Amino acid sequence: MSKVVKIGNIKIGGGNPIAVQSMLNTPSRDSAACVKQALELQKAGCEIIRIAVPDKECVKSVAALKENLSIPVVADIHFDYRLALESIAAGVDKVRINPGNIGSDENVRLVATAAKNAGVPIRIGVNSGSVEKEILAKYGGPTPEAMVASAMYHASLLEKFDFDDIVISIKSSDVANTVKCYELAAEKTDYPLHVGVTEAGTERMGLIKSSAGIGSLLLHGIGDTIRVSLTADPIKEVYAGIDLLKAIGKRTDGVKFVSCPTCGRTKIDLIGLANKVQDALKGCNKNITVAVMGCIVNGPGEAHEADIGIAGGDGCGIIFKHGEVLRKVPEEELLDALIEEVDKL
Ligand code: SF4
Repeated sequence: MSKVVKIGNIKIGGGNPIAVQSMLNTPSRDSAACVKQALELQKAGCEIIRIAVPDKECVKSVAALKENLSIPVVADIHFDYRLALESIAAGVDKVRINPGNIGSDENVRLVATAAKNAGVPIRIGVNSGSVEKEILAKYGGPTPEAMVASAMYHASLLEKFDFDDIVISIKSSDVANTVKCYELAAEKTDYPLHVGVTEAGTERMGLIKSSAGIGSLLLHGIGDTIRVSLTADPIKEVYAGIDLLKAIGKRTDGVKFVSCPTCGRTKIDLIGLANKVQDALKGCNKNITVAVMGCIVNGPGEAHEADIGIAGGDGCGIIFKHGEVLRKVPEEELLDALIEEVDKL
């Protein structure tokens, strides 16, 4: 079991619920735009939010996020330890920085001390392009073993200063490599793991790669917080993360949606209806299963596990509850009738 790390008001590791995170893509200097996007992500269900802090000017956006959000804020910093110190002073909840990249031992000591005093954990984020030359030479390239060795090296720099409030990520854009990295890391360390496939791609492939990689790891008990990385609006990362957790049974609150693939028996616009039902129930927090099935012959039977559902007929459909028919409704009224029944549950 991984150790527990506290990021603001969220705990990860040690069997705590897996937290979904995302990263802002608004310009980091534009505090107003960052706050606006962060609020949208928070509303969508994002639980930890990260902002890139490439220069001093951007630290003010960290402070603005802290003022306006109720979820924890993470500062993503490369190379400049002073930005870590300033972000911690601005109230950030976690810093992502690789201590091997910030210069002297003294710089590492300063960051470790400031983070410790403020109760701020540090995430070490290794990817295939960040592995140190010596480690690359030893392992013959950015192999999963090399990437894990790199993460352990960065962790050891913090441990030297008695700092162990650490989260680790070891990401590759290759799904199989990513899975291997995290499997090795989980054997070697009990620091909680931030799991994701990096640079996973545009929406479609990104979703597939992330589901395969993150899903596989989580199903094997590896991973404490996730980020689905997509070349798309970050709100889609948040929805994808939540849906991924639901799909593998790691999150049970909210609506579980079941729909059939349609076939030659389907006589209503089931694809359109299924999408409308899903949209209409997006914000519903009831812990229920809703089924949208194409036909009366097989629908209620196939979806008898569902709390409520629709089965299409010819220009009409039936509403069923736990497999029992409640009533018959014309096609154009099916959506409203279903929502009405969901409201009663
Ligand atoms: Fe076909 Fe009916 Fe099964 Fe849907 S529920 S796939 S329409 S048989």
